[in-house]
This record gives sequence, C-alpha cells and structure tokens, in this order.
Amino acid sequence: MKKLFLFLLLPFHAILWSQSFELVPLGVYGGGDESNLSAYLIGEPGKNAFLALDAGTLRSGIQVAIANQTFTATEAVVLKSYIKGYFISHGHLDHLAGLIINSPDDSKKNIYAMDYVIDIFKKYYFTNGPWSNFANEGASPVLNKYTYKKLDTQTKQKIENTGLQIEAFELSHGDFSKSSAVLVENNVGAVVLYLGDTGADRIEKSDNLARLWKNTAPLLQSKKLKTILIEVSFPNSQPENALYGHLTPKLLVEELQVLESYAGKGSLDRFKVIITHLKPGGDQIETIKKELEENNPLGLDYIFPKQGERLLF
Ligand SMILES: [Zn+2]
Ligand SMILES: [Zn+2]
Repeated sequence: MKKLFLFLLLPFHAILWSQSFELVPLGVYGGGDESNLSAYLIGEPGKNAFLALDAGTLRSGIQVAIANQTFTATEAVVLKSYIKGYFISHGHLDHLAGLIINSPDDSKKNIYAMDYVIDIFKKYYFTNGPWSNFANEGASPVLNKYTYKKLDTQTKQKIENTGLQIEAFELSHGDFSKSSAVLVENNVGAVVLYLGDTGADRIEKSDNLARLWKNTAPLLQSKKLKTILIEVSFPNSQPENALYGHLTPKLLVEELQVLESYAGKGSLDRFKVIITHLKPGGDQIETIKKELEENNPLGLDYIFPKQGERLLF
C-alpha cells in the first residue's frame, strides 16, 4: 500500500524518463478496419520525435491519440513534426496506405526500407498513376517530399532527427511478398524488435526467422531487448496451407521457442511481447487472445496494443 502511494506521488515525468522507449500505436489491426491498420510510433520518452514503424493508418490514429490526450498537439503538428520518418516493412497496402493518402499534408522526411519495398513504391504507388510521385526517385515529375533510404542487412542506419538507429532483417511473407523486421536502438543501447508480416520458417521453408532470432538472442540475454512486436493474424484453426505468410498463436510459440533455444532456458519468462496485426472478423480476435493465454509454455507477458494509447517500456 505504502509502495503504491509513493509510486502515485512520483511525477509523471519521472516515470517517463526511467523508461527507454515510448510507443504510440496509430493502428493495430491486420485488415478489415481501414481506420486502424498497422502503424506504431516509436521514440524516446517525452521527446516527440518518432519513427513510424509502418504507416497503414496515420490520421485516424492521430485523432484517437489526441482524443485520449496521449498527444496535446494538433493533428498537423503530430503528422508533420512529431513523425520524423517512416520504416515500411513491406509493400502491402495495410502497411503504407496512411503514408500515401496523407502525403500532400506531410512534411519532408525519409522513407527507410529494404530495396524490394522501395521498388514497390516506385513501381506501383508513387508513379503518377494511382498517386503523384511524392518521392525523390522514379516517375517524373518527382515532388521530392520523401527521400528513399535503402536499408541493408547487417548495417545500422541512423534515423534523422531522432536519437534512434535501426538494423534491418529480411522476412518471408508468403509466395508473393518479401517483408522485413528492424531492431530499433536508442542512444544508450536499449533495443526493440519490430517485425512486419511474417510466416513461420517451417511453413515458408525459410531460415529468415532463425537468422533474426540468432541475432536477437544476445540482446535478450543482456536485457537490452525491451520488447518484441510481432504479428499473429489468424487463430490456430486456420489451415497451414492457407496462412498466406502469417502466424497463428501456435506458430508464434513455435518460433519464440527457437529464440529461447538460442538465448537460454527461461530467457523469455515474463518477457513482454506486443501482438500486432490481429485480423478482425467474427470472434477471431477473442479466439486468438484465448489461444495465446492458454498455451504459453515460455511464460510470455502478452500485450494487446490499443490505437492511440501510449506504452512505455
Ligand atoms: Zn499486413
Ligand atoms: Zn502483408
């Protein structure tokens, strides 16, 4: 009781500054609701200098964040000045539609992505066909608002106007799409792992996740890794031949057991995992949550993010 009282007496800023990262989800679902699709602002607490991890939904999420008093600035200020750049994990619309639609109102900034994602922007979106070319390369005229910054694996890239840097990894996402993940690091070496859409190695016949887990394991062991954001799109009843490059609760556990095998037994006990990309429809989301809680051999602490609600860790 006394402890709780002292905690309540701590000013909000003291709590804020004792954390490594601030995360504001602008969209959390993997389909269905176009006002709430994958987009997560990550930054150092209290600095209002964010990298957007995907940009499926921007404005609707900013509006909810303002209504929740997560932000006290105007919509325009959050869009133009709080968001310093975008990391886009892959070329699917539910991860970049918000960026495209809001591009006329946005400010000049960078799009950080793997070359195969930048190619999709150039070939299909910023072509002066479906949309004007707001980027700096490709179909002319180029409007030069966004600058493509190509990410290479095993190379850290500084995110301009933030204290963050990122390192990218390839992910496999079904037969027609490659996706990617990033380790986001702050200036004192704390790290968050964000994965775009991904299938399990066993289903995808890939070793991309195994490679990612191998690289992540030392960060988990040294406690530098604060959280993982990873997708679970379907419940366990989804047939393995109809996953389209996504995970179920069972496959998530299967994959995180590989991470644990690299990092050591018990290394994921009480570790925070933020579940992204739930696909709405019927009681599917409730089923996924139930299946995650009921089969949790690693002792993970699952977090289901809400649009516009700040998380600190
Ligand atoms: Zn998606
Ligand atoms: Zn996708």
